[in-house]
Amino acid sequence: MVMFMKKIKVGILGATGMVGQRFIDLLADHPWFEISELAASERSAGKTYSEAVKGRWKVSGDVPEIVQDIKVKECTTDLDCKLVFSAMDAEIAGPLEEEYAKAGYVVASNAKNHRMLDDVPLLMPEINGDHLEAVERQKQRLGGEGFIVTNPNCTLMGMTMTLKPLMDSFGVKDVILTSLQALSGAGYPGVPSMDVIDNLVPYIGGEEPKVESEPLKILGGINSNGFENAPINISASCTRVPVRDGHTLSINVKLDNKPSIEDFSKCMADFNPLKGLGLPSAPNPPIIIRTEDDRPQPGPDRMAGNGMAVSVGRIRDCNIFDYKYITVAHNTIRGAAGASILNAELMKSKGLI
Ligand code: NAP
Repeated sequence: MVMFMKKIKVGILGATGMVGQRFIDLLADHPWFEISELAASERSAGKTYSEAVKGRWKVSGDVPEIVQDIKVKECTTDLDCKLVFSAMDAEIAGPLEEEYAKAGYVVASNAKNHRMLDDVPLLMPEINGDHLEAVERQKQRLGGEGFIVTNPNCTLMGMTMTLKPLMDSFGVKDVILTSLQALSGAGYPGVPSMDVIDNLVPYIGGEEPKVESEPLKILGGINSNGFENAPINISASCTRVPVRDGHTLSINVKLDNKPSIEDFSKCMADFNPLKGLGLPSAPNPPIIIRTEDDRPQPGPDRMAGNGMAVSVGRIRDCNIFDYKYITVAHNTIRGAAGASILNAELMKSKGLI
């Protein structure tokens, strides 16, 4: 017998931006969620979605038919849905997301504003689903049934996903990371073309502190008072490169116990904690090991696992730490909209939505 599940109505806040467009693309045909509301700034409000993104739709293919004629609204708390995905500019996301949560909405947020609060989960379902326990304390603070759950900064996804199995098997002490980040990570229109064509920009404002601190919360524990950071030292250098989508990371790692290179690689390849849970967006497996000399690369590898998997390659000895390797992950899918949707799927499977 085929069971038909009534889909959950969802809204997208910041629906017209780079991440908002990814939400549209990934939710247009989602088996559990159905887009009922689109909201953005007053610049877009009142237009149909097609008009609002005319000339700035950056996802491949056309604007999906089911959203073309939806009227974009301002981000007010009278939307016809229970769950909102937030891709709003960080300048305004802080107070607005809290308003939504106080009005009873479940907010799945991409913005940095609430990520480090001690009652807000910074969620990566493969790693820290237990951090959702914090939602009960948050509901008490906000005074209702609404709450905020965040997904991490797009850059640290490849590093954090790979550190989890390494930490569990061998213990992780120190990490040095250099990022080569895609242009779509800066939103649209983002970095001026004259700054980045035939060039590289070795500075991304505010990025390194996030990349050094957020993984410690994600990889850490939770108790009745809040979160406990994982005892790992991370040092990051973040750069912007002329790649459209897909962040590449060069990672050097020092472990408590150095395994063989085969065991180092196998523990990442075998990592698949969501297997069998039936979450529609969960990549299977979440880490894909590339054995070619020159992979992973953002061009061929960013869409691995429908853009939700992390590709890992060039695993080799490090003369200073234990091992070094390269990762590639799609920044607006695994690093943003796809991550948020997977978070919502986990919340639904745990009865939180
Ligand atoms: P973006 O392309 O600049 O889009 C920003 C969105 O916010 C647009 O929809 C914009 O609407 C809306 N907005 C701006 N001011 C607003 C206001 N006063 N009220 C309501 N909506 C407003 O930025 P993005 O790259 O999509 O990033 C969105 C969020 O996700 C940011 O917080 C960012 O830090 C985070 N993030 C981005 C990435 C990435 O890879 N790009 C990854 C992870 C997290 P209009 O079009 O109407 O102006």
